[in-house]
Amino acid sequence: MLRAAIDLLVPPLCWACRSPARAGLCDQCHLRLEWIEPRARLQRSSELDEHWSPLAFDGPARSLVHALKFHSATALAGLMAKQIVDALPPRAFPPGGALVPVPAHPGRRRSRGFDHAELLARELSPRVMLPLASALARRRASVASQRGLGRSERLAGHSLDLQLFHEPPKHVVLVDDVCTTGATLEECARVLRNGGSRMILAVTYSRVK
Ligand SMILES: [Zn+2]
Repeated sequence: MLRAAIDLLVPPLCWACRSPARAGLCDQCHLRLEWIEPRARLQRSSELDEHWSPLAFDGPARSLVHALKFHSATALAGLMAKQIVDALPPRAFPPGGALVPVPAHPGRRRSRGFDHAELLARELSPRVMLPLASALARRRASVASQRGLGRSERLAGHSLDLQLFHEPPKHVVLVDDVCTTGATLEECARVLRNGGSRMILAVTYSRVK
């Protein structure tokens, strides 16, 4: 009710071009989304069994990721989850698996008030009929930022300092908004596999091509 009243007074805008839009993106920007080959090619040494990602991290998809992460546009998580499910084949969400969000750094989570990957996983969960299992956390002591690290350090997973909450699910679908180098997913997968996970897939909303 209140939302509807606010929308009448201040029509919602497209997160990519700032023209009026009902659901996150205007029609034009929706058409500009860059859909990619959803199955990412993995290195032979990868800890992941498969990585699925429907969109290039560019243009309107990038705008949505930034809006969710940096402008607290949490309502976008539903739209992004729908786009993922519409684009990916069912095998990206195998029955018996559980969705494990890639954990944000505790400092970022605190300053934002939410964890964007968890929001995305929470929206995916009923759509793909898989439970949410927040099995991973990042230790508070870690202060390093991915942005401040070189590529080799990111690839080594030095910025994550991950820990398991409890025994992880046997079949896991890691969930995140964007994959840049793949180092974060690899590090999460390594920790999950060491903890007992047998099959580890990853689904990211977008990836750097
Ligand atoms: Zn637009």
